[in-house]
Amino acid sequence: MRNLLFVLLVTLFLATACQRTPADSTTVASQADANFDSLKLRFVEEMWQLDPSSASYRGRHEFDSLLTIPTAAYLQQMKEWRTNWLDTLYRQDTASLSIANRIDYKLIRDQLVRGRWYDEEYKIHEWNPASYNIGSQFAVILNGRYASLDERMRALSGKLGKVPAYYDAAGSHINKPTLEHTDLAITQNQGALTVLGKAMEDSLAKSGLSEQEKVRYQQNLVSARTAIERYIDRLRTVRSTLTPATARNFRIGKEQFARKFELDMVAGLTADQVYQKALARKEELHRQMARVARELWPKHMGTRAVPADSLAMIRQVIDKLSLQHAHRDSFLVFVERQIPELIDFVNRKDLLTQDPDKPLVVRSTPPYLGGVAVASISAPGPYDSGANTYYNVLPLDNFSDQQAESFLREYNEYILQILNIHEAIPGHYTQLVYANRSPSIIKSLFGNGAMIEGWAVYTELMMLEEGYKNSPEMWLMYYKWNMRVTMNTILDYRLHTMNLSEQEGVRLLMEEAFQEEAEATGKWKRATLSQVQLCSYFTGFQAIYDLREELKKQQGNRFNLKAFHEEFLSFGSSPVAYIRQLMIK
Ligand code: ZN
Ligand code: ZN
Repeated sequence: MRNLLFVLLVTLFLATACQRTPADSTTVASQADANFDSLKLRFVEEMWQLDPSSASYRGRHEFDSLLTIPTAAYLQQMKEWRTNWLDTLYRQDTASLSIANRIDYKLIRDQLVRGRWYDEEYKIHEWNPASYNIGSQFAVILNGRYASLDERMRALSGKLGKVPAYYDAAGSHINKPTLEHTDLAITQNQGALTVLGKAMEDSLAKSGLSEQEKVRYQQNLVSARTAIERYIDRLRTVRSTLTPATARNFRIGKEQFARKFELDMVAGLTADQVYQKALARKEELHRQMARVARELWPKHMGTRAVPADSLAMIRQVIDKLSLQHAHRDSFLVFVERQIPELIDFVNRKDLLTQDPDKPLVVRSTPPYLGGVAVASISAPGPYDSGANTYYNVLPLDNFSDQQAESFLREYNEYILQILNIHEAIPGHYTQLVYANRSPSIIKSLFGNGAMIEGWAVYTELMMLEEGYKNSPEMWLMYYKWNMRVTMNTILDYRLHTMNLSEQEGVRLLMEEAFQEEAEATGKWKRATLSQVQLCSYFTGFQAIYDLREELKKQQGNRFNLKAFHEEFLSFGSSPVAYIRQLMIK
């Protein structure tokens, strides 16, 4: 079982890819706004021309037969394109734009600045060979339902033909990679070979392509596979010459971490500030957990002696409460039953206005989605028209009894309710519904991850504060759940900037965050492969919570929770720092 953060990452992609119409639908658009709307469209179209792989991946299927080839000349072209667009943007008069367009302006600018930094200073394309992988873009077309099989087969054939050039370009950039990302690239590209496996031939056999087209497809498929194998061999050779002394360190260091944090989070807080807040939160969570666990001890642990070590005491009560879980056959029904309860609670407490016309359909995760997420939201992509929004729940069919038991304990009755708040109502799903009310292709494509995750994490606490399923047991489990995102930040920061050892990192997660060993070692591995992303949940949560508390103080008894939520959500998936500027008067 992969850990939940990976899952949330998948969700995040889906969550940011939800809106449909290509321009803001303001009722009285001024001339400045009209001009800026066409500028935005031009920007996006040029971007797709330069990066057809991403266009296809985001649902612009006329680009399916193309592949973005990352040659040195391509990087140079991107550099010039970014410079030109930044010049264009800096010449814009933003004062006369609507608020929605002013935010879009900043999102485009930030995207360009971030892209420039990634390519020219961070240079992840040189040291992370896993940056190159064609697997998922082929899987999306192969499993797509948007066009006939023949159409998709023709597109795939064209795309396959470009794979050798893609991997040639990829190989030319690799320069002193890390051991960890080299190993990852080998594993993931073996996965890409699987995508170009039997299913690609079976689909061809079922298609109505002409004999000539079939021959061409087969040839392209074989040379694409050979190109991936060559890339893997090349990485193996590189790998055999690397030692911990000669390889690049996976720790990116304080300076790059701070800059990446600033560019990716846009939360109005620095990496250091968020780290300090996470340390304080950890202490607070331990204090609260000890208090609740002591209170619950006689009820759940009977006359057994209370351990002197408070972390041990907390762990024992958590383990006991985790036995309270759904049956493996009723897991999906258990989730499904909670959705109306959540809707009802949000209405009863008047926390925000919900849209009854956009029901959330609970289903078992379809196999083509990979089946790693415990729960995730699938919303239609920005170029798809109003399809259903699904709440995918992991099927447990392939679990052994032992695996199922361990999974069900982790996602016990308490945690499952918090997960449903996070993923569905009033978390990700509700935020999507609000974001869709002022559809913007820019916010849909460049939505801010810390805002999206932060909102979902914020709603977990807010619902409990409002009394949802109020019990000490529920609070104890919530604290454990919240400790996970808090610890993600501490781990990420200390690993990249303070030389945290694996032994100490795993100990932190197991002893202080009450995680199982498999979960802790998995998280450590993930933290060595990513940078800053693990901070987004806590960072967004903290920034939103701080904003709410500040407004409460400012507005006194005029403060209204529903009004706060609705105004906050009205700006789409914008960075919290920009929403803050608009809400603090
Ligand atoms: Zn999430
Ligand atoms: Zn059990």
